[in-house]
Amino acid sequence: MLRLYTHPACLEHDPGPGHVELPARLRAVLHALDHDRFAALDRVEAPRATREQLLRVHEAAYVERVLAGAPLTGTSQLGEDTPMSSGSAEAALRAAGAVCAAVDAALTSHAHRAFCAVRPPGHHATPAQAMGFCLFNNVAIGAAHALAAHGLKRVAIADFDVHHGNGTQAIFEREPRVLFASSHQSPLYPDTGSEEERGVGNIVNATLSPGDGTYAFRELWQAVLLPRLHAFRPQLLLVSAGFDAHHADPLGDLRLGSEDYAWITERLVEVARTHAGGRLVSTLEGGYDLGALAASASAHVAALMD
Ligand SMILES: [Zn+2]
Repeated sequence: MLRLYTHPACLEHDPGPGHVELPARLRAVLHALDHDRFAALDRVEAPRATREQLLRVHEAAYVERVLAGAPLTGTSQLGEDTPMSSGSAEAALRAAGAVCAAVDAALTSHAHRAFCAVRPPGHHATPAQAMGFCLFNNVAIGAAHALAAHGLKRVAIADFDVHHGNGTQAIFEREPRVLFASSHQSPLYPDTGSEEERGVGNIVNATLSPGDGTYAFRELWQAVLLPRLHAFRPQLLLVSAGFDAHHADPLGDLRLGSEDYAWITERLVEVARTHAGGRLVSTLEGGYDLGALAASASAHVAALMD
């Protein structure tokens, strides 16, 4: 059984005209998941993250700045390319809350697997800085929640977004209970994530070059990232599911197709089945071509349901 966590508030974060991280992204994903073949999804409304959950990852002054929010009309800039509108704080709270609720369900019920269809995305947000369209680091907040509230000793995060999850790395680079395994294009924003960045042995960065496609992506995961995930024996697997390595995406230069997202999802489900009792919580990150995003997220969710 796969749970789908989302909330209408996630459509009310509006970065303004011309911005690529637009509400239509989430609408496209939700519309695709309305198809009959997803009828078995267990749909759950995401709660708000609590202050306690946010403060495990973000500095108090930063949390206050996000929650204080934007003016009632128009947008304001919270950080580098991260505009806020009047609905942004509520959207960010529901996005982070979705992941925490999915982690709770994975660890305490039979709902072992979940997909959080939320925005704004999270993996660029650092403890004290909004960047790259991200306000709260949703997946990092979920991982910290699994450690603090459930006492887990090994939580893995797999990140296949085309961009490096610099925020997630910054949050956990000195936390040996979390393994962060990422494939991403280099060079590309945010210009972090070289193979030499290893944290305390818990950061695994694997880079792809502009123009790389199916073969290079699968080879990298088979040879480097999946073996590290298996060796770590996670008790819970979180996924930063960005779909902007698709060949149609305007922000990246990789050449993946939606079938590659089915492939990596099947491999990650296998990691979760082998070590974590099947517990896997995936969360939407990037993906900026609406058609490619809808097709890729559908392939991902279908593979999670199998
Ligand atoms: Zn991205």
